[in-house]
Amino acid sequence: HSTPELAALSAAIRDVPDFPKPGILFKDITPILNDGALFQQTIDTLTAAAANHMPNKIVGIDARGFIFGAAVADRLGVGFVPMRKKGKLPWQTLSQSYALEYGEAILEVHEDAILPGERVVIVDDLLATGGTAAAAAQLISQLNADLASFIFLIELEALQGRDLLGETTITSLLRY
Ligand code: AMP
Repeated sequence: HSTPELAALSAAIRDVPDFPKPGILFKDITPILNDGALFQQTIDTLTAAAANHMPNKIVGIDARGFIFGAAVADRLGVGFVPMRKKGKLPWQTLSQSYALEYGEAILEVHEDAILPGERVVIVDDLLATGGTAAAAAQLISQLNADLASFIFLIELEALQGRDLLGETTITSLLRY
């Protein structure tokens, strides 16, 4: 990875084989959260990427996207919108189903969380197949808002998640 800062981030990520099921190499980002300097540096870098797009709202995807996205929103002084797995949000929601490796899942957002025409940046920890991020983008489109960019800490390039995400700019800090 191209800078000493990114190399340090990459070194901190813990690869856990066969979690949550056989054949998956899980990228555990909790060691980054555990280290104050690394966490701060990660939020610095994600915030710089988001700021380029001058968002009115940051969307974070359940659940690690909440940790990174909320910190970025706080740095920028803009609102934070959680997109959650089905059944967790208490108010009126819009829903979008998406394919998982086995079966499907549903992502939801409060219908009043993003106004028509607002500029939105989506933040998540990791881009794998792209199904989750594509569902988040569809919810933003259902709300008639303007998706400015996707920002990920990690991209697993072999899974070609980018191909599901259309023309929108994608930033990933670390690519494997
Ligand atoms: P996908 O919809 O396939 O792009 O999967 C993305 C979501 O699943 C993200 O919210 C990630 O947190 C999680 N995820 C998928 N694969 C992994 C992995 N290998 N390690 C850690 N998290 C993963």
